[in-house]
Amino acid sequence: MNEKYVCIGCGSSIQTEDPTQPGYAPESSLNKEDIICQRCFRLKNYNELQPVPLTDDDFLRILNGLGQRKGLIVKIVDIFDFNGSWIPGLQRFVGKNPILLVANKVDLLPKSVNKNKVINWLQAESKKLGLKPIDVKLVSAYKGIGLEEVMDSLDEYRNGQDVFVVGCTNVGKSTFINRIIKQATGENDVITTSYFPGTTLDLIEIPLEDGQALFDTPGIINHHQMAHYISEKDLKKITPKKEIKPKVFQLNCEQTLYLGALARFDFIKGDRSSFTVHISNEIEIHRTKLENADALYEQHKGGLLTPPSGDSIDRLPPLVRREFSIKEPKTDIVFSGLGWITVQHPDVVVAAYVPKGVEVMIRPSLI
Ligand code: GDP
Repeated sequence: MNEKYVCIGCGSSIQTEDPTQPGYAPESSLNKEDIICQRCFRLKNYNELQPVPLTDDDFLRILNGLGQRKGLIVKIVDIFDFNGSWIPGLQRFVGKNPILLVANKVDLLPKSVNKNKVINWLQAESKKLGLKPIDVKLVSAYKGIGLEEVMDSLDEYRNGQDVFVVGCTNVGKSTFINRIIKQATGENDVITTSYFPGTTLDLIEIPLEDGQALFDTPGIINHHQMAHYISEKDLKKITPKKEIKPKVFQLNCEQTLYLGALARFDFIKGDRSSFTVHISNEIEIHRTKLENADALYEQHKGGLLTPPSGDSIDRLPPLVRREFSIKEPKTDIVFSGLGWITVQHPDVVVAAYVPKGVEVMIRPSLI
C-alpha cells in the first residue's frame, strides 16, 4: 500500500504493523472514508487513554521547529498538574515568539477559589521556571468556559501570524482543539495535516480566516506526571470529573492522612488545627496515627489505601518525603496531578509524600 493515510484525530500517519506506535489502525479500518487511529478511536468512543510514545528526539525536533517559525505559541497546562504539564526549556526553544499560557480544567476548582489568585500563582510559577507568558487565561475546554476570551486573545496576540498549540499529554489539549475547531469553523471536517519542517511528525492544521493556521502539535509525555504510574482505570478515579468538594480535617499533631496510596500528609508539629483537602471526590482519605503510618502503608497499600488498586500498586514508585515549615496562614501543599491540602494555621511543621518523580510544592492559598 503506497498511498499515505492520515488519522483525522491526531494527524499521525496510519500504519497497520505496530499497535504500540503512533498511528496504528487495524487493516479493516482502512476501507472507511475517514480513517482514525486506534488511540483516537478509543479516546473518542470509550474515553480511554492510550499513551503514544514520543521519543525525546521527536520532542526536541518539534521544539526546535517552533523556534524557526514565527507565530504565537499557546501552551496548555492542567491547573491540577502544573508541574506535570511543564515542557522544560520551552522559552529557550521558541525564541522570540510570544507564549500565551492557557490553564485548563477550571471547572474543577471549588467555587470559593479566587481566579485572580490562580492567575497570579501561574504567573509566579512560570517565572520561577524561566517562562514569561504574554498573558495567562483560565479555561475549561470540557465545559466551554473562557473559550471566547481565549479566541479573542489568540487574535490579538498572534498579530496576523500562525498559532502553535503545545502541551503535554492529558492536559486536555485535544478537547481544547476540538472546541476551537467548532468555534472557529462551525464544522468538523476542515482539519488538514501539514508536514512540519525538521520533524517526521504531521501536525494538524486548522485554517484561520486570514489565511494563517492554527497547528496542533503532538502531546508530549512528561514523565513526572502521576498519570504514568497508574492504570487507566485509576487515572479516571484520580482525575476529578466535577467541581471538587473540599473536605475539612481537624488534626492533632502526629496524625497522618493518606490520599489513597498515592500521597501522604503528616502533621508533625503545631497546635490542633484544621486542614482542608482538595482532591477528586473518588479518592479515599484515610486518617491514622503518625507512629502507625508506615506499617499501615506496607500492609494496606492497594487494598484499604486505594487507588492504585490491585496489582497496579507494584508500578507505583515508592513515596518520597518532603518536610515543610509553614509560617504563613492559609498555605497550600500542592500534590501535582492530585490536588492540594490547605494548611489553615501558621507555625506548623508538616511533611508531604508523593511517588518518586512527582512534584510537591507550596503556594499561598487560592481561596
Ligand atoms: P490531551 O491528552 O492533552 O489531548 O487531553 P484530552 O483532551 O484527551 O483530555 C484528557 C482528560 O482530561 C480527558 O479525560 C478529558 O475529558 C479531561 N478534560 C479535558 N479538558 C477538561 C476540562 O476542561 N475539564 C475537565 N474536568 N476535564 C477535562
